[in-house]
Amino acid sequence: MRAAVTEKVGAMALVDRPDPGEPGPGEVVVHPEAVGICGSDYHFFAGELSDAAGGSQFPRVQGHEFAGRITALGAECRPELSVDQRVAVYPLHACGHCYPCRIGRPNTCDNFQLIGIHLDGGLQGRLATGQDQVFPIGVDDPAVAAMAEPVSIAVRAVNRGRVQAGDRVVVFGAGPIGQCVCLLARERGAEVLAVDLQESRLALSREMGAQTLVWRGHDAVVAAVREWSGPDGPPVGVDATGAAPAVRAMLDVLSSAGRAVQVGMSNAEVPVRIGSLTEKELDFLGVSCCGGGDFAEAVAVVEANPGLLARLISHQFPLERAPEALRFAMSNPTEVMKVVILGEGL
Ligand SMILES: [Zn+2]
Ligand SMILES: [Zn+2]
Repeated sequence: MRAAVTEKVGAMALVDRPDPGEPGPGEVVVHPEAVGICGSDYHFFAGELSDAAGGSQFPRVQGHEFAGRITALGAECRPELSVDQRVAVYPLHACGHCYPCRIGRPNTCDNFQLIGIHLDGGLQGRLATGQDQVFPIGVDDPAVAAMAEPVSIAVRAVNRGRVQAGDRVVVFGAGPIGQCVCLLARERGAEVLAVDLQESRLALSREMGAQTLVWRGHDAVVAAVREWSGPDGPPVGVDATGAAPAVRAMLDVLSSAGRAVQVGMSNAEVPVRIGSLTEKELDFLGVSCCGGGDFAEAVAVVEANPGLLARLISHQFPLERAPEALRFAMSNPTEVMKVVILGEGL
């Protein structure tokens, strides 16, 4: 089978590799049909993943956002799984023993392993994985099925932010995750305002059901968000940028008892007025991947919204052109929303 292997920093090559063979008990073999590429792939490829995120370990087959078909089932798999079924893959393995695992938050496991980061991922002809990692998904387009993973991060974000019907939610950043957050918050019955530097991205946010605002600096944005939400500010903010000015604006604009949800990853540092946390009793909540329950919810959201999620897929490449696809995505950030790499037919 073919595999796109990231051999060292900045170098991906197509190579032949042996098939994974027959699945063991509780394992399935999956043929990846579509693999989404995201910012963490760029960081891994560039050798920039922090040690806290597991670092960049080479050689590695990347691809953590993927869907495919089951080609073989081992013994002791759950009865709802069958050969030829399309599945979305939940990429996270947790250790089960550490403090976050013990309290039911395996997505923040201190020893977690992500398929496509710590284990070989979707950019290959077949891979074996545990049956717990696969979720049957009823959509016709495998590229849309692969959106279950980015949608799962948005599910986690709205769950962390306790978004409810009627809430006003301001979302900073209209990249793929920000767009999915807009969609999810709308699904919950919230009113959503998306903020971004680029009007072209905001046009897509309007399709997701959000109202939109172009970023014009901290003070102007805080004033405009308050005009939209009422003078108290919105109760929920989600930052999907990781940019310090956006995070600061989120904290400043929220209402008392509000929830600030941090999804965008970065090493940036943000000056925060401590009083904004105490006076308003804000919850400042991080998001790290998602749990299995969030992923199941994401699969249902994808099944209910295939047309909208297809709008987020801006470019598709075949597996043989995976190195070019990654380079294209990294060097065209304004043009690219979601790049998807399609697996070879079997
Ligand atoms: Zn991703
Ligand atoms: Zn753990």
